[in-house]
Amino acid sequence: MPENQKYDLIIIGGGPAGLTAGIYAMRAALKTVLIEKGVPGGQVAITKDVENYPGFIEIGGFDLCQKFLQHAKHYELKILEEEVLTTEPGIEYHSVRFADGTILKAHAIILAAGGTARKLNIPGENEYFGKGVSYCATCDGFFFRDKTVAVVGGGDTALEDALYLSKITRKVYLIHRREAFRGSRILQQRVFAEPNIEIIYNTAVTAINGGDKGVRNISIKNLESGGQSNIDLEGVFIFVGFAPNNQIVPKGIKISKTGYVITDEKCETDIPGVFAVGDLRQKYANQIVLAAADGCTASLAAAHYIEARKAALRVRMLG
Ligand code: NAP
Repeated sequence: MPENQKYDLIIIGGGPAGLTAGIYAMRAALKTVLIEKGVPGGQVAITKDVENYPGFIEIGGFDLCQKFLQHAKHYELKILEEEVLTTEPGIEYHSVRFADGTILKAHAIILAAGGTARKLNIPGENEYFGKGVSYCATCDGFFFRDKTVAVVGGGDTALEDALYLSKITRKVYLIHRREAFRGSRILQQRVFAEPNIEIIYNTAVTAINGGDKGVRNISIKNLESGGQSNIDLEGVFIFVGFAPNNQIVPKGIKISKTGYVITDEKCETDIPGVFAVGDLRQKYANQIVLAAADGCTASLAAAHYIEARKAALRVRMLG
């Protein structure tokens, strides 16, 4: 294998966790490459406003990501735009394989692949994706100017994006399956104060209906009374959480029932030298600051691991 395809550390994923890991790795003088299949920034890049990242009272998600990226580039972190198909643990080196067959090797790998918007899996959801069904208010909200939309979910994302959409659209129905929101108190208060948002509790969306021009209405069911009805609208924004992107997690690594990678306090998995960070890792909450903290922890631990590994290889070669 050419030396230019061998690294100390490969980071897979360019969200806050991966980029922070990259910053720490470059500062530790590790030969590092970060692989990102799309635009660096992850989920945060499509978040409108961030109000809880220390040091920034309010900053756009995209702008915050650009700052992470600039910081990583300041240390000349190498970033490749590629899709990783598999990661394969090895005795001497771990390997990462791209869709085009290219293989890179490294002493350590940090899995920072994040998560993807979870689906409702109801009729019409796939059919009308891009024709009224969306998983990103900041990307698609503009298309629903002065129209009626529904937001489905009760977490921070649903509340935040319902508020965002309430400023653009004529009306927002916020539909939640329970009677209490999971999202933060401050966002709840803002939602309650917004006259443009009508909250519908204890209700599931059972189908998204439409025609050639896109979504026309949704079918809903009250989960207490069983009563069913339709709401006429043009857009449905679904924010019912994330599913961790665990497809490239190698076999032999423990994963929780909900798909998150289990690690120790160093963010290291069951396979020595393979770390998992950010929204992919099982932990108490998914927050940008926690993703960044994971990236830091894993990178520091990886640096120790790599140093010990190189020392062991040197001893073996001498012996
Ligand atoms: P989340 O906190 O997991 O909330 C998902 C919501 O969707 C919950 O209200 C859940 O209902 C509902 N839900 C799940 N499956 C459903 C289904 N099949 N049908 C209907 N509803 C369903 O996800 P999130 O809001 O995307 O947030 C993810 C993480 O990012 C959280 O830790 C959040 O705090 C963080 N975040 C933070 C900010 C911020 O601080 N600015 C912004 C966005 C996200 P139940 O409540 O009944 O379970």
